[in-house]
Amino acid sequence: MKKLLATLAVSTTLLSPAMADDHGQNDLLDATVWTQTSVEYKANAIGTYKLASLMLDVAIADKSWTAVPEEQTGDFSSKPPAVILDLDETVMDNSAYQAWLIKAGKSYSSKTWAPFVNAEISGAIPGSLDFIKLAESRGVKIFYVSNRKAPLEEATRNNLKALGYPIDESEDTVILRGEKEEWKSSKKSPRRAYVADNYRVIMNFGDNFGDFTDAAKGSMADREAAMEKFAHMWGTKWFMFANPMYGTWESATFDHNWKLPVEERRQKKLDAMTYWEPAE
Ligand SMILES: [Mg+2]
Repeated sequence: MKKLLATLAVSTTLLSPAMADDHGQNDLLDATVWTQTSVEYKANAIGTYKLASLMLDVAIADKSWTAVPEEQTGDFSSKPPAVILDLDETVMDNSAYQAWLIKAGKSYSSKTWAPFVNAEISGAIPGSLDFIKLAESRGVKIFYVSNRKAPLEEATRNNLKALGYPIDESEDTVILRGEKEEWKSSKKSPRRAYVADNYRVIMNFGDNFGDFTDAAKGSMADREAAMEKFAHMWGTKWFMFANPMYGTWESATFDHNWKLPVEERRQKKLDAMTYWEPAE
């Protein structure tokens, strides 16, 4: 708590008055600095992709192995292997957008996100390119499943290609939100099911619980229960990347109710924490 109060005090003192007034956005500062500049972040991402590389041959060889237990139905043993990767903060680094939000004293908006995506300047998450190239060399089909919206597909593909990521053009392997009527929801299960129709999905990669299960949109207790249910998946079939900047972990603290005023959402985050009280 002391540390938290100290951090808030420093933020309020050092930032320009316009930014200091927007307490909600100042809360992005440490998360974004950590993600964008720290070796701790890079080491975490590289280690996670390395672990996936080590699991790859096991996953390919075991025909009963699937990473989408809720969507992979019927006999999938003879289907060719595929992996599903989320894009933002899993493959593509958008911390420059978050940094801009802090600098400009703004919060996320699709109106500013679209020009950022169209600038095609997202970076590569450390370790992702090596893993994806390895998987592709082993005959694994690469699917990118993202909640970027369909009109942003061309810029997204251009950005991925410029960073060196392979994109299989023989079918739609860049699956964005709203490309089809049944893909309008941010919930990804219909798109995981689409991939699972023709492939055995051996691994799934994301920075958000929703990249793995629709239960991400539940209450904090629901999320904990789902976490328990799928605890055996992590590190073998499911690979999670740190994203302290945004995600359903944040909105779960205020019941995913973005209509609440920023101060109310912030209070609910404060209420969500467990506090130590020193003895008098
Ligand atoms: Mg993401």
